[in-house]
Amino acid sequence: MKKVFIYFFIFLLIFFLLPAFLTKRNVEAKGINNSTENENKVEDKLKEKEKFEEYNYKTYGTIKLLHTKTNEIEEVPLDTYLCNVVSAEMPVDFEKEALKAQAIVARTYTIYKIQNKKHENADICDDSTCCQAWISKEDRKLKWDENVRESNWKKIEECVYETKGKIITYEGKPINAFFHSNSGGKTEIPVNVWGGTGYPYLQVVETAGEDGYLQYQSEVILSQSDLISKLKTKYEDITIDFTNNDDLKVLEYTDSGRVKTIKFGNHELSGTETRTLLDLRSTNFEIIKEGENIKFRVKGYGHGVGMSQTGADSLAKEGKTCEDIIKHFYIGVEITEENKL
Ligand SMILES: [Zn+2]
Repeated sequence: MKKVFIYFFIFLLIFFLLPAFLTKRNVEAKGINNSTENENKVEDKLKEKEKFEEYNYKTYGTIKLLHTKTNEIEEVPLDTYLCNVVSAEMPVDFEKEALKAQAIVARTYTIYKIQNKKHENADICDDSTCCQAWISKEDRKLKWDENVRESNWKKIEECVYETKGKIITYEGKPINAFFHSNSGGKTEIPVNVWGGTGYPYLQVVETAGEDGYLQYQSEVILSQSDLISKLKTKYEDITIDFTNNDDLKVLEYTDSGRVKTIKFGNHELSGTETRTLLDLRSTNFEIIKEGENIKFRVKGYGHGVGMSQTGADSLAKEGKTCEDIIKHFYIGVEITEENKL
């Protein structure tokens, strides 16, 4: 009888305790898997956090931004501000390396502006014709299709944070990092746009592939009387004899092939002045007489100095990195970190 009890006891052990033991081991094993998974997730999150963590800026971590419409001055972290600038200045569907180059250029431009003050109580303003373009995150997102809003903004943030702290220097100092939309194939030196003495790192640079963008070519067609009335806003006494070819012609070109001086009847105007008065996209234009109309065929978009944004995208498509792009447009520069200035 005792034996029966012993067998029964063993049976109980086998049937209940052993499965329980095995299950426990499984749970433990599963637990181990879970914790490795968790560790990986934690690691990924840390990497992500590190990427988006603010850079330890020595001097220029926050900036005073002037909102020109409201006249308000807002203090914002530099890299937060740069997300608003990059998303306003460059199309989000451009290559990541082009957007990263834009982020570094915009960061450098901002610091240069802080060092060379333009506004009384602010470091920089949100007007593209004065400083750099800026758009709020909300307004920017509303301009994108709903299904790409999050991914587009994430791309912009990645480009800013993957380049955090990086700036362009020449002989150890932040450069005046001008940029524009499309160079028409060749960039311009600042002296031909604003006068002054120029900068050694801003030279005439050629970039292939700029003609593949919409910004490359444009036209302005004006009737003779429209042309006269536009020029009269500045030169009241202007007269042009349209039957005389010498009364409407380019007198001089810059080294990059842009119009330097042009004759309009009894006046000689600079290319930049003409661009403003006639609302041309650049000073790289030719004049074509078409019956009673004058056609200005324009190449490129913007002043043409420094980095061309479409040129940056075209170089990125060729496999160039953001650093290659920057060194293509700014001669003899280095990429440095702000806290090593
Ligand atoms: Zn400004």
